[in-house]
Amino acid sequence: MSRSKRSMRRWSMALVAAGAFSPIAAAGAQAASQKIDQEYTRQIKQYLSDPRISTELVDHLPASSTVPTPLKFLGHIVGAPGVLDHAEDIHRYLQAVAKASGGRAKFWTIGKTEEGRDMVLLAIADEKTIANLDRYKGYLNQLTDPRKTTEAQARQLIHTAKPIYWITSGMHSPESGGPEMLMELAYRLVVEETPLIQNIRNNVITFITPVIEVDGRDRFVDNHNFNEQWNKEHNVAATGGRGGGALPLMYWGKYVQHDNNRDGMGQFLDLTKNTTKTFLEWTPTILHDLHEAQTYLYASTGTGPYNDALDPIVVDEWWYLAKNDVMEMTKRGVPGVWTYGFYDGWVPNYMFFIAHTHNAIGRFYEVQSYCCGPYVVKPGNTTTSKEWFRPNPPLDSIMWSPRANTNIQESAILFALNRVAKDKEMFLENYWLKNKRAVEKGTTKPGTVAAWVIPASQHARENAAEAVNELKLQGLEFQTATAPFKVGNVQVNAGDYIVRGDQPYRTLADMYFSLQNYPPANPSPYDDTGWTFPLMRNITVLEVTDKSILKQAMTPVPQQKDVVAAGGITGTGSTVVVENNSDNTVVSLRFRNPAMKMAAAEESFTAGGHTFGAGAIIIANASRAQLDASLKKLGLTGYAVSESPTVKTHDLDIPRIGYIHSWTRTQDEGWVRAALDTYGVPYQYFGENAVAKLGDLRSKFDVIIYPHGGSGVGGAAGGGRGGRGGAGAQTANLPVPYKSTKEFPSLGYPDSTDDVRGALGEEGMKSLYAFVQQGGTLITEGGTSQILPEMKLTPGVTVEPASGLFARGTIVRGEITDPKSPLVYGYDKPDVPVYFSVGPVLNAGAGAQPVAENAAAGGRGGRAGSVAQNTTPMANLLKLSPWDPDHTGTAYGVATSIGNDFNVAQAGEPEGGRGGRGGFGGGFAFAQAGPPAAVPGLTADPNSSTRVVMQFPEKAADMLLSGTLEHGELLSKRAQLVDEKIGQGHVVMFAFRPYWRWQSQGTYAIGFNAIMNWNDLDAGK
Ligand SMILES: [Zn+2]
Repeated sequence: MSRSKRSMRRWSMALVAAGAFSPIAAAGAQAASQKIDQEYTRQIKQYLSDPRISTELVDHLPASSTVPTPLKFLGHIVGAPGVLDHAEDIHRYLQAVAKASGGRAKFWTIGKTEEGRDMVLLAIADEKTIANLDRYKGYLNQLTDPRKTTEAQARQLIHTAKPIYWITSGMHSPESGGPEMLMELAYRLVVEETPLIQNIRNNVITFITPVIEVDGRDRFVDNHNFNEQWNKEHNVAATGGRGGGALPLMYWGKYVQHDNNRDGMGQFLDLTKNTTKTFLEWTPTILHDLHEAQTYLYASTGTGPYNDALDPIVVDEWWYLAKNDVMEMTKRGVPGVWTYGFYDGWVPNYMFFIAHTHNAIGRFYEVQSYCCGPYVVKPGNTTTSKEWFRPNPPLDSIMWSPRANTNIQESAILFALNRVAKDKEMFLENYWLKNKRAVEKGTTKPGTVAAWVIPASQHARENAAEAVNELKLQGLEFQTATAPFKVGNVQVNAGDYIVRGDQPYRTLADMYFSLQNYPPANPSPYDDTGWTFPLMRNITVLEVTDKSILKQAMTPVPQQKDVVAAGGITGTGSTVVVENNSDNTVVSLRFRNPAMKMAAAEESFTAGGHTFGAGAIIIANASRAQLDASLKKLGLTGYAVSESPTVKTHDLDIPRIGYIHSWTRTQDEGWVRAALDTYGVPYQYFGENAVAKLGDLRSKFDVIIYPHGGSGVGGAAGGGRGGRGGAGAQTANLPVPYKSTKEFPSLGYPDSTDDVRGALGEEGMKSLYAFVQQGGTLITEGGTSQILPEMKLTPGVTVEPASGLFARGTIVRGEITDPKSPLVYGYDKPDVPVYFSVGPVLNAGAGAQPVAENAAAGGRGGRAGSVAQNTTPMANLLKLSPWDPDHTGTAYGVATSIGNDFNVAQAGEPEGGRGGRGGFGGGFAFAQAGPPAAVPGLTADPNSSTRVVMQFPEKAADMLLSGTLEHGELLSKRAQLVDEKIGQGHVVMFAFRPYWRWQSQGTYAIGFNAIMNWNDLDAGK
């Protein structure tokens, strides 16, 4: 590669000016003419703990007479120890930069959080580009849609358009450096006049959203400051600059902690919705999310297996960018910048996958933590060894610091921006190609799905309508059939929803609708292995490969308007029977009309010429106007009949609901609250350590929900104390409050307490058990479902360790074994797909033989067969069990998955040879509630009985629907859903996770049934 003489001259001048240590460094060094901000630069040097963590890009800050530096605006440089900024201050700073930028930056808000805080965006480019930002937006929009843009236009646009590189940070609240660094990056991109920065400014539009989880950022900063103050007040030795202290970070956003970046598919959280909305408007080329969980900087590619629906180009783009960043940093001698060996690339639930579902590029960094002062990093040899993906590995020991964090990620991202600026036409061409190829999958590529049909009149039709709405929010376009037609063996009725396969965002449908097949020979999965959208929602989606469907009459569903299933009342008569089709809005009907008397039919029956399933809701003397309006809104159907049906019924009494959360792990329970809040189920929310203090629970509550994450009795010292850098023994007896104060306003939400320490304790456990004995209904899921069995308080149910089982975030078949139980009202088929991960494995009799633990577990974990590295773990796929609940003869997902070149193992084929499993790093520990195994004085009520309502199939071959499973025989006939009667009350134990993220809508109704039928669970026994 030759350089022009002119750039050569500038290059050498810059070299002299910067006193750069190597020729390559000069490209980014400050221009000769530009003044340096001496004080800021001095402090950069002062606070950098190790000179090796620096590049010529970040070892100085250029001066500006107009744009304020962070030091001038906030009183500290980025990377100053001990300082964290609230989101509002970060936002104010970026706004000030935009204002003073002389037209090089523009600032706006992109939406509000659950707690009403602003999310923001700062765009940076050269003055001309910023002045014409909407025109550049239009160019990228045009490249997105090959249905409107011709090849010739696209070729032109590839030259005139500019990529948008959207950098986001502050997703994971304790990962605090990104939001700080992005302030300095913004300043540098606006102010600096080096060739490298100019190249970026002229050729890329940089978007910056410094804080994605705005509520969590403020909570983290307040929490940090609280602990600093606590340490001072209680003379606790400094925690080595790592933050932490007496008060763990209880909550991030209102609902979840680190799962806030696992909402890309579900899109429940406001931060996800705002990101998606902004993404769809601007169609950025790259979305880059900054995290802090590796040593020292990891640029994402992943170990594989990669998501099967990704266009192959994306995989190369991942590697191209990651290797660019590793190479540029390595070239400059910065250690510990690497790729590959972390995360897989499989599940599309990450926020940055919003880019991939829309044919752009998503990536992330994991950086050595910022917070909040200098500290020593001494990783083990599995982190410091020299490997092919880590040519210049992390050091055995280094003094790290906030400034080191700033330097390493700011440098790397500048190199990434520079690479995209240099190769902008390549990235734009790739983007165009990906969109074009997606459309061609629908129109010309043989064997792929031409359209998906979601029957509007299917069983759970409001659940189906809600699925349509949520996919529409993600930009997937829907049509409705205007007249009935048949293609192949698929009958389409007027009003059915159609996803045309010739739209660019069909990638999203491919990714979500396909089946997953994750052979255990792969590296340990980083997250879920199965997520198939129609299975998780238990709705019918039909795949049509016949391309003639695209010529049928259909009309677009407006993107902005929600659809709702046809509902309301037909017929005449004073009694209205409402169908229960396992639609989640059935529970809304109950709770939104509390004064209306409702009864549930305990069996199937006929009335007014209609056949209703068990669980149909009978409303005598209905106020027709009120009910009709309510049903229409909820997409439910009622039939008015003149005489009350004679079927056996029980009243649906509205329960008073208590809800127990742990103070140590509020991560998973937020998804349960998400479902309750959305469908209008009210509850009183309190910590485990409040249970004992509430006194007689039965006089206050009818139902108590105790979700996964609960700690049970807890240890002797109280399970509440967590977080890193515990405050030390001298303060162990002091209460630790979690409350909103004038100084720390964002603490104390969504729950508050005078003392976070402790779990249920022995008294709380006794109280909870007494609540059940006295007629209350306790609902547990996942980890909390094993608390009572482990204490031998549920005589019919035992917990099995099943350590040989490999079932990680997977979709398995649930068999309804007791269809008369109110828990499965509304479910019309014997099978339900359920989300199961790791455990608990509950044996509740049902003919399940106790497992001889070691018999089935042999061979797992080792490297079977060969000492060679398994470089083709996908060569031998698992055999999935076909899902065909309507007995159509065609298993679901086969067409979609083949369309993705996904070699689905069909039922009936002989099982292929199993490759050896690769080294199985990192394992996934099931959150076990700690011992104790017994509470003195608490023994099982002799009046107990066990009702298994759902279970795993008998044969392992019938279990796996999508995801992964090994040693399924350990689950043979194990209980998935148990209704344990204890005294007068019930414990409803879910072994699967009915409210898994905002994804498992198909099983929400089972939990809702437990709530609605709380005092009639014995019906049908
Ligand atoms: Zn993170």
